[in-house]
Amino acid sequence: MIIDIHGHYTTEPQALHLFRDKQLAGLADSARKPTSTDLGISDEVLAKSVAPQMKFQKERGSDLTIFSPRAGGMAHHVGTEAVSREWTTICNDLIHRICTLLPDSFVPVGQLPQFPGVSTKNCIAELERIVNELGFVGVNLNPDPSGGYWTDPPLTDRHWYPIYEKLCELEVPAMIHVSSSCNPNFHHTGAHYINGDTTAFMQLIQGNLFKDFPTLKFVIPHGGGAVPFHWGRYRGLAQDMKKPTLAEHLLGNVFFDTCVYHLPGIELLAKVIPVDNILFASEMIGAVKGVDPETGHHFDDTKRYVDQLQNLSDAQRYQIFEGNARKVYPRLDALLTKRGRPGRKS
Ligand SMILES: [Zn+2]
Repeated sequence: MIIDIHGHYTTEPQALHLFRDKQLAGLADSARKPTSTDLGISDEVLAKSVAPQMKFQKERGSDLTIFSPRAGGMAHHVGTEAVSREWTTICNDLIHRICTLLPDSFVPVGQLPQFPGVSTKNCIAELERIVNELGFVGVNLNPDPSGGYWTDPPLTDRHWYPIYEKLCELEVPAMIHVSSSCNPNFHHTGAHYINGDTTAFMQLIQGNLFKDFPTLKFVIPHGGGAVPFHWGRYRGLAQDMKKPTLAEHLLGNVFFDTCVYHLPGIELLAKVIPVDNILFASEMIGAVKGVDPETGHHFDDTKRYVDQLQNLSDAQRYQIFEGNARKVYPRLDALLTKRGRPGRKS
């Protein structure tokens, strides 16, 4: 089984965008607020809206996508905390409906109603709702709800502990995923995303977060940003800071996905990062939609790169495509096992 742990709902029906436009217009003029949170989207329209993702799954050979709301759409910095909460509920409910309609293709991951400067306690009720009531197996956690200005404390600060306590209690991992950038210096998918990944990893080196939360699990997407390429720098910085080795300090808790859009990048990832810490993902349909003229294949068809990796044993390939996802997302493992698809015994 091939599990793609990183897919966003980027093909939403127009009704969702119209709601968002009205919701934001309502901030300036309450008369323009949406009159209802019922978007009027039928099951048929919802199922049709994810046909492009399902087509790619079939063509590229993946079975199941861990599916979350559009990352750029979370936009925690926009409006007010109440706006973020309403928007989050609506986006998560749509993901829940799609995963209920098409359970063999999609498993749900949610967004959180974060807002800059607000206690992360404000996220607990929604986190409990989506996991306990809606069966979500993970969340996306935005390390910079300000959208490119980094006004909240680092991820190792106690500011974030309420979320971590709940994630550990629920056995749910977080993908550290920024949203759109409102700082024109940072293109959102080209700079802000990669900055977010790299910044989060460096924050974790500087702190001792996993001493307080030994079972907490983070996925750093987009191949870990600049981290694998600069692994020597990070090892050296950790050493200078008198931290344990990165393997001891972080690799029991931090995992990387394969959303790197060329073969040399994946080769480097697999050479530098232990196989135990790599999870297959494509982020389709997302940041880069085009076809690479050098290969004739879509940039985000990442399975092709993993397939081309030399020197991987069958067991290691299984880990990247399925086994590690089951380990990092225990609720996914339980769900699949319940459906008669247990993982391999290692
Ligand atoms: Zn993403």
